[in-house]
Amino acid sequence: MSTAVPRPGLRAVEPYAAPQLDVAARLNTNECPYPLPDAFRQELARAIGGLALNRYPEREADVLRERLAELHGRPFEGTWVANGSNEVLQHLLLAYGGPGRRAVTFEPTYALHSRIAWVTSTEVVRRQIDQPWVLEAWDLEGAGTAGADIVFVCSPNNPTGNVQPVEVIERLAERTDALVIVDEAYGEFGGTTAIGLLDRHPNLAIVRTFSKAFALAGARIGYCFAAPEVVEDLRRVRLPYHVSALTQAAGLVALDHRDDALAILDAVREQRDRIAAALPELGAEAFPSQANFVLFRPPRPADEVWRGLLDRGVLIRDFSKLVPGCLRVTAGTPEEVDRFLSALEEVLA
Ligand code: PMP
Repeated sequence: MSTAVPRPGLRAVEPYAAPQLDVAARLNTNECPYPLPDAFRQELARAIGGLALNRYPEREADVLRERLAELHGRPFEGTWVANGSNEVLQHLLLAYGGPGRRAVTFEPTYALHSRIAWVTSTEVVRRQIDQPWVLEAWDLEGAGTAGADIVFVCSPNNPTGNVQPVEVIERLAERTDALVIVDEAYGEFGGTTAIGLLDRHPNLAIVRTFSKAFALAGARIGYCFAAPEVVEDLRRVRLPYHVSALTQAAGLVALDHRDDALAILDAVREQRDRIAAALPELGAEAFPSQANFVLFRPPRPADEVWRGLLDRGVLIRDFSKLVPGCLRVTAGTPEEVDRFLSALEEVLA
């Protein structure tokens, strides 16, 4: 017997991971800080109790897709559901990327875009854009988009928090034959969406998630709206029964409780704005955010500040390799934010 040889380059890649530590304030992965309401839990328990788990689930989560389509005024045939928006992105890359094909990212942005491109053997062209990281029409000139098969836009962008103007997304969709993937994982917090462009631009795919505003990161539900032909292509690459009956049930109950989820948005935005206002008073540069997190540059080396916060029970994310000197903090509960701000004050003292 000899050792099996993995695909070239695989062992040079670290598994994607954010620390999952048991600390007082976990503010590193942009989750919703509030647990789900009791009524939701009870209804979910009832829904799950009634499932025929001896059978395969509905193969393509048709009922959930139908409900999402209805809610957003989109056709069912142009609506897709998968295990988190990450799996939606993977389906898009499997269908529109692949060997010999190219994806463009505007950096700094969500690392999974280029990673999933790599996983699917899609070449990645990373186009750097400058602070305040807003795409301008001129950014698109010579953006490497000519001849690209996929262009990623993240709005609001992770980790910078800014939204991209819908007009620029439209210009981009007009001037490329690529599939323009608009990642709106934080769309509900910013309140702008490119969904309205879909009827005019069949080369757009708008990707969304239940993980953030719907407080359901643990359920793994993502969805996208695109032209029916695109969704038809996603059906060709998905695994059969990819969304479990448990996941589908959670998604349907969540949609029934949509108003509760959306009510939490204001509380999260309030804490985000509180963080953004408090950081400059501590000598940090805070970047305006329309998501549920704030990117900031402390007046001391980011890794030291990150460590000092962790020592005080506050876990945030170190982005200094991607955006020099910067850290990203998720908007938590008021108590978590108190803890973060007082810990930061101590660390910077
Ligand atoms: N897109 C962006 C921009 C994100 O920040 C995240 C999660 N951090 C995701 C997609 C993936 O979310 P999920 O797979 O939980 O839907």
